[in-house]
Amino acid sequence: MVTAENYIEPDGGFPTLQGGPTRTNSPHTCDPTIDWFSKPLSAPRDYVFAFDDEVVPAFPSAGLQGVFTPAQKDLFWPGFVLWKFGGDKGFPNLIAPWVIGGPAPNLIVRKADLLFSALFSASLGLTEFPESVYSADNSNWGPSWAVRNRRDEGFPDFPVGLFGILVDRGLSDSNEVTLLKQTAVHEFGHVIGLGDAPKGCRLPTSVMTPLGSGHPSEPTARDKRALRNLLGIK
Ligand SMILES: [Zn+2]
Repeated sequence: MVTAENYIEPDGGFPTLQGGPTRTNSPHTCDPTIDWFSKPLSAPRDYVFAFDDEVVPAFPSAGLQGVFTPAQKDLFWPGFVLWKFGGDKGFPNLIAPWVIGGPAPNLIVRKADLLFSALFSASLGLTEFPESVYSADNSNWGPSWAVRNRRDEGFPDFPVGLFGILVDRGLSDSNEVTLLKQTAVHEFGHVIGLGDAPKGCRLPTSVMTPLGSGHPSEPTARDKRALRNLLGIK
């Protein structure tokens, strides 16, 4: 028997300074959170992604913080498709790189200087959502949320109609491959509607924990449970 009072998920939280071996302030679950605006993301959709330097006509400030090498670009797709599960809903429908002449990309991946981002300094990746996602909850909020988020994060020119994955320049300028791929997996988890894992959860519990040593390389059982929760499927 456990009670909400002292429940510790077996491999979830850890004792903290304020807590102790039997009483911690660890979270009750280490499943990733589901953001308030996530519901519209549960509709199956196609994700066609492109890197900002590839988009024609030119994406706003394309390549401003540099471009990924071909080898780095190749890391993203295998990371994204790790999320391609979801039972009979077949979610997400399609995750594919943009091809010239094909459907326009709705997800742009680019390098960014996240140290200059007011809200997200020291973060390795950042996800932008189209205003339509915010609008589904309250149509009046959508455009203003999208515009305000982009401005506060330091990317006012990022189109309000697109998803974005912004990867810190410091990481993407390095030769670090594992962290870059983990960033791709983590940020795509945001793109499809998952929030971060609650604070206090050990890194191996979820790809939605902060990046660092011990971070998993693919969605865990908790990640899949949270996504299925969002989708309303078993
Ligand atoms: Zn995150």
